[in-house]
Amino acid sequence: MSMTSDIQVSFDTDFFNIINNELVDTSSKRRTICSSTKQPLKFEVPVATKEDVDRAVDYAAKAYPSWSKLSWDKRAEYLFKFADAIEANKDGFIKLLSLEAGKPPQAAAFEMALVIGLARQIPLLRIKEDRPIDDEERTAIVRYVPLGVGVGIIPWNFPLTLGIGKLLPALLAGNTFIWKPSPFTPHGALKLAEIGAKIFPPGVFQALSGDDSLGPWLTSHPGVAKVSFTGSVETGKRIMASCAGTLKRVTLELGGNDAAVICDDVDIPSVVNSVAFLSFVHSGQICMAIKRIYVHEKIYDQFLAEMVKQVKTFKMGDRSDPEAFFGPVQNEMQYEKVKSLYAKIGAEGWKAAVGGEIKDSEGFFLPATIIDNPPDDSEIVQHEPFGPIVPVLKWSDEEDVIRRVNDTKLGLGASVWSSDVPRAQRMAEQLEAGSIWVNTHFELAPSVPFGGHKESGIGMDWGEVGLKGWCNPQAYWVKHLKPKSANL
Ligand code: NAD
Repeated sequence: MSMTSDIQVSFDTDFFNIINNELVDTSSKRRTICSSTKQPLKFEVPVATKEDVDRAVDYAAKAYPSWSKLSWDKRAEYLFKFADAIEANKDGFIKLLSLEAGKPPQAAAFEMALVIGLARQIPLLRIKEDRPIDDEERTAIVRYVPLGVGVGIIPWNFPLTLGIGKLLPALLAGNTFIWKPSPFTPHGALKLAEIGAKIFPPGVFQALSGDDSLGPWLTSHPGVAKVSFTGSVETGKRIMASCAGTLKRVTLELGGNDAAVICDDVDIPSVVNSVAFLSFVHSGQICMAIKRIYVHEKIYDQFLAEMVKQVKTFKMGDRSDPEAFFGPVQNEMQYEKVKSLYAKIGAEGWKAAVGGEIKDSEGFFLPATIIDNPPDDSEIVQHEPFGPIVPVLKWSDEEDVIRRVNDTKLGLGASVWSSDVPRAQRMAEQLEAGSIWVNTHFELAPSVPFGGHKESGIGMDWGEVGLKGWCNPQAYWVKHLKPKSANL
């Protein structure tokens, strides 16, 4: 269902927190840094106080009873209106994403396509009730009831997609929601909430931007029932510890070190095409990007040579370059972290098949780099770089490569590529990860959940599983006084 919307917001203004459908200023403000120029962006963003948090949580709690009593279809109607309004403001969001996340236009448009896809399809989801017992004497229903005030804590790499993927299921299931964007990328979320304020009842959808104190205030707040977090493993552990104080529900979508296993029977050009794209899209700053490429030794040299050829065609450029495939790393902290891996190429004796040398530039630019067969215990294999640098490794024995892929604390995604699909499926089914793929990777859909195993997370976002994460399961027993057919 797609309708036009006449809701328009200005992207050429200062940015405000949205509390109870009002644009709320703060006495302290800050500017974020453009990753292409290292200069502060023009528009200031608010720095929320503890009092702002208390007010937002109170308003969210006040809005909850009437919002949760609406039918699923009625709440979905609100969400469809919201989707229409987001689409009507799409061009503004694409420019804003380019500015705040450092995404070249192609990459920003890709993110907005994901956002609009989620906004249109999540409202169609429903939870199926289960009746494990339904006989003459009694009926037991497992139903799902909303939790209350939900909080979404969002990272900077896909600042809108990852937030929308929490906000919409939370609201659809009957919760109210406070969105906390990353301090690196707060603008888009605040604009989305400004649009939301023109659609949802007050207190249903609020957004607070702040500094490093804001997240802990929200996770420890007794009025918050659930925290859904996407970000690093270390922060995920801190959030879970903080939520334990009030036994909040948590969903944690954390880091990944996804492996792709390439068998010796693949069509090399087409698989190289996909694998190179999935390793370097958005400079590798994707939780589910391919981060370790295991290639069968029989085709290793040819595969690597074709990868190098392909990677050389990827144009790096800034937010104004319509032809750029990937842009800079989003922020200085991440840039320094990834840069330290480039420094290890010489120090550790790794061989760069392409890239490796950082040129002086105005922004946080790092060249696409492939490390040729480093040792399994090297940092580039063991840790998620979250930047445009990927190791390619050799394998020869199926059982051994599966062991090597699984030999990590992380378990977000993993794939096997082979022309022999049953063989690939047999291998893939042994991989320890929240998403496993055959002949693809980073394949997602709003109706299919995604999340991590092991230290890559707890719970899943999206799909019916994601919706259930915004609910308490409830066992509902009815004892029939008369024969059931006359009663239920
Ligand atoms: P991060 O953990 O540094 O920050 C994420 C968010 O948490 C930010 O909004 C930050 O302000 C907030 N935060 C930080 N400390 C907090 C605390 N103590 N309490 C409450 N909130 C706190 O992560 P990042 O650097 O923004 O993102 C990169 C990481 O995210 C990578 O590891 C990546 O793999 C992961 N990631 C995972 C997924 C997934 O779905 N599994 C998706 C994207 C990114």
